[in-house]
Amino acid sequence: MYGLGILNGFLVTMKNFVRKPFTIQYPEERIAQHPRFRGQDFVWYEERCTGCASCAKYCPLGTIKIVTHPSRANLPEGDSYAIDVFDIDIGRCMFCGLCVEACPYDALFMGSGFEESKYTRSGLVITVDRLRNAEKRPSTWFRPQLESKGYDPRGASAMPWQQAGREPWPYHLPQRPAPSEDKSVDAASVSKGGEQQ
Ligand code: SF4
Ligand code: SF4
Repeated sequence: MYGLGILNGFLVTMKNFVRKPFTIQYPEERIAQHPRFRGQDFVWYEERCTGCASCAKYCPLGTIKIVTHPSRANLPEGDSYAIDVFDIDIGRCMFCGLCVEACPYDALFMGSGFEESKYTRSGLVITVDRLRNAEKRPSTWFRPQLESKGYDPRGASAMPWQQAGREPWPYHLPQRPAPSEDKSVDAASVSKGGEQQ
């Protein structure tokens, strides 16, 4: 029948004409984010991090740079690593979350922030100091322990490291040892530590 297609098209136009708009005027208006939203930042719990670098190895783009040295702060227990560098270049990151999935200790989480525009590419590197000092509001993406608690990073208070993991692991340190200037292995200290065991 002639004109039926035009009539159908006109009906679609009229239906959208009276529908309530779902666009918003950002940044004046904002919509609620889902707690699982993967933002453009990361939440890192240094207290839970062993410096194993699994996150860096699993990153398909080589976006994470980690440098550690033996801290010599825990020799009777076999020692632990102090973390000197933990840089994440979000200028190259595709926010796939594989690094978060790879972390065996629930130390790395996707963040919820997304307003990370910078004027330089170097400004897009999230440094270890920024990770250390950032407010801990992890996304619940790939973290069922946070979902089961009903945690909402945009509304609730910050999540402390003791509550962020899947298990209370007694070997996590309340505070990581501070990076030392002398990164050479002190053979005498190691020997002394071995004798204490
Ligand atoms: S989110 Fe993906 S691309 Fe970004 S640092 Fe993690 S593994 Fe690499
Ligand atoms: S964040 Fe996780 S995977 Fe990465 S170095 Fe720390 S413990 Fe290892």
